[in-house]
Amino acid sequence: MEDSDNFLRLILDSIAENIAVIDVCGDIRFINRSWAQFGDDNACSIAQDWSKVNYLSVCDSAALAGDEFGIQAGAGIKSVIDQKEAYFNLEYPCHSADEQRWFIMRVSPFALKNERFFVISHLDVTERKLAEKAVEKLARRDGLTNIYNRRAFDEILSEQWQQCLTLKQPISLAVIDLDHFKLLNDNYGHQSGDDCLVAVGALLKNFARRTGDVCARYGGEEFTVIWSYTTLLEAELLSKALLEEIRQLKIPNERSPIAPYLTASIGLVEMTPNRLLEPRDLIAQADDLLYKAKESGRNKVVSFIVSPSDSVSALLESKSQN
Ligand code: GH3
Ligand code: MG
Ligand code: MG
Repeated sequence: MEDSDNFLRLILDSIAENIAVIDVCGDIRFINRSWAQFGDDNACSIAQDWSKVNYLSVCDSAALAGDEFGIQAGAGIKSVIDQKEAYFNLEYPCHSADEQRWFIMRVSPFALKNERFFVISHLDVTERKLAEKAVEKLARRDGLTNIYNRRAFDEILSEQWQQCLTLKQPISLAVIDLDHFKLLNDNYGHQSGDDCLVAVGALLKNFARRTGDVCARYGGEEFTVIWSYTTLLEAELLSKALLEEIRQLKIPNERSPIAPYLTASIGLVEMTPNRLLEPRDLIAQADDLLYKAKESGRNKVVSFIVSPSDSVSALLESKSQN
């Protein structure tokens, strides 16, 4: 029997997962080597002798200190002890000073000689988590310009809209479309067109530096900038400066009837979000203004403030049409 105990301990000590066994009171009754090692490596202040530690108290202390994962872990362990759940899994961050780490905690019960025990295991899932985060980040970026893509833009616009709604702040949106870009492509080749999109993308980043500012490639040769907490007056200055910087790139577009170099047009709108408006109203308005900028000669900003009373009357009008 002693041999087999020793045999099992050696197996558990060889496992990279941090494993502890607690009883129904939460007292730790067993830990494997990885668990002890993790405690030592991370200078755990709780106690050096884990056999005197109550794991539920550890979770409660973390919860009291405001750690939301401490709250969840404690509640999850109790739910298995109270037989409300068969198992419990929790993925949580556990960052050290110099490293980002994530773990999955798993609680599973077993019984021995009429006593119930619970295996608490912590598995390091940092590699998987970092890979997931890298994929998530890639999925939000435009492959050519490396600024946000339309998907990310839509998500961020909704978030910023909510922020401005809560804070009763204005939000301005510019939709930027390159003028006669088809002529540029036709004249200098698609690769030159791509280089030009990259240059404009890089330039846009300089116009989206403050908190709540975001630039994105909306599609094709169309870009967007969100300026949260920003009035039309400020956004107009930024938009005009942006058009000037695009002109100053002096990217040749000799066949353009506007200028022998690249120009762009902007539809710009300011709204102060309210419950009658949605982010897509902002986009629709900016698109409309962009169309006007194109129609009225390109290479310019056409802007508009949607006031709360405008939005109410527009809504009533659309309702009476339906
Ligand atoms: P307008 O001033 O009215 O906007 O004229 P435009 O020529 O810019 O607009 P149009 O919609 O006729 O053409 C847009 C062009 O943008 C056509 C398309 O081939 C080009 N384009 C879209 N995406 C890309 C891209 O990723 N790379 C390159 N090189 N060209 C692109
Ligand atoms: Mg265009
Ligand atoms: Mg276009």
